[in-house]
Amino acid sequence: MTCQESPINRVSNVSNLKHLVLICICVFALASAAAAAEPVSLKASGNEKWYKGNLHTHSLWSDGDDYLEMIADWYKTHGYDFLSFTDHNVLSTSERWTVPEKNKGKLHAYQELKKRFPNWVEERKNKDGQIEVRLRTFKEVSEKLGEPGQYLLIQSEEVTDHFKNLPVHMNATNLHSLLTPLGGKSVYDVMQNNTNALLAQRERSGKSMMIHLNHPNFHYGVTAEDLMKVIGENFFEVYNGHPGVNNKGDETHASTDRIWDIILTKRLAELKLPVMYGLGTDDGHNYHKIPSRGSEPGRGWVVVLSKKLDAESLVDAMEAGRFYSSSGVKLKSVTYTDQGVQVEIEPEEGVEYITDFIGTLEGYPKTGTPVLDKRGLEVRATKHYSNKIGRRLKTVKGNSASYDFNGKEIYVRALVRSSKPHPNPAQIGEVERAWVQPVVGPAAPKQ
Ligand SMILES: [Zn+2]
Ligand SMILES: [Zn+2]
Repeated sequence: MTCQESPINRVSNVSNLKHLVLICICVFALASAAAAAEPVSLKASGNEKWYKGNLHTHSLWSDGDDYLEMIADWYKTHGYDFLSFTDHNVLSTSERWTVPEKNKGKLHAYQELKKRFPNWVEERKNKDGQIEVRLRTFKEVSEKLGEPGQYLLIQSEEVTDHFKNLPVHMNATNLHSLLTPLGGKSVYDVMQNNTNALLAQRERSGKSMMIHLNHPNFHYGVTAEDLMKVIGENFFEVYNGHPGVNNKGDETHASTDRIWDIILTKRLAELKLPVMYGLGTDDGHNYHKIPSRGSEPGRGWVVVLSKKLDAESLVDAMEAGRFYSSSGVKLKSVTYTDQGVQVEIEPEEGVEYITDFIGTLEGYPKTGTPVLDKRGLEVRATKHYSNKIGRRLKTVKGNSASYDFNGKEIYVRALVRSSKPHPNPAQIGEVERAWVQPVVGPAAPKQ
């Protein structure tokens, strides 16, 4: 176990924090796996199972187009073990009524709801004679559709903040109470302030909670340089299923995969900060025409190795790096030893797999150069860095792949690409993939 102190007093505008609080987040870092004598084997066995879930979901409580119970039912019937509701700046805890004619789901969503859950829908007429439907709360939906050990719903929020015109959205998972966006003096400051608020709530409640940065390339709001410095926030979305969030970047902006490699290199080798993990999520808003080019469920997810299907166990497991992210590829196991990394794929008939081991070796050039536009003016974008950051170190074809450390690695991660096209991708032309979480290599400075 490693233990990192995060001085909350870095943020003076967290109004409910009057004095310095030190929050200690003990993380079972895979960082120690490389040096550990004992290998870390992520594999279902005994009472440990892989649980598939989505950590990013919108409903009629904000700008999604379906009712919580319908969305929970979709994920339940599509093989998911857990689902986190993350509406914008709201928890579904109050009494709220909606007019089907006017809301995003329109009459179609209302009719489907009544068909699927007869004798469940509470309705009334408003003064204009329109039907109103009561939005069910998280608690009600959780009691209706959750099943202990089988299917779990998690109360969460998309803390929807910004700096000037740049969106800064962060998902807070397993919240006890609402986090109001705190703003800040820069994109980094916005992230750090909201992170500290989550950590303070976590401390007060004694419950495991986590916060992650959503879709950094949405309006290209967050750069690698912004995100790498945030303390106490060790997750970001390397794959978000919304078609408008630019996972792949463009000629000016780095892809989310590239952002990850820059962050990992700088955090481990220069900033003395822990690993950042990469998440796959849906960010679903549209539930009525699947597949189409809306923001739909079923595109990206996480698979967590846990002893129990409860929110705290899942958060603890993710903080320990005991998960992978996927847009279709299923893994059997990931093993980290002091020699290297091994990945075993759960193959699908007729599908081929290529695994890239990606990492940075010591001695890489540290300086990045700013991105300039055609007029030579600096663009707000992740800087250009040497290709020695996030190099492809080895490529392996087949259902299993391993990488042996040569002693110079700062970190290594694996990306598995399938020959199978994604059936409903965020961006056209994607194949199914799995993102294996990084391991700290033998050349990373000790923290
Ligand atoms: Zn968002
Ligand atoms: Zn969202």
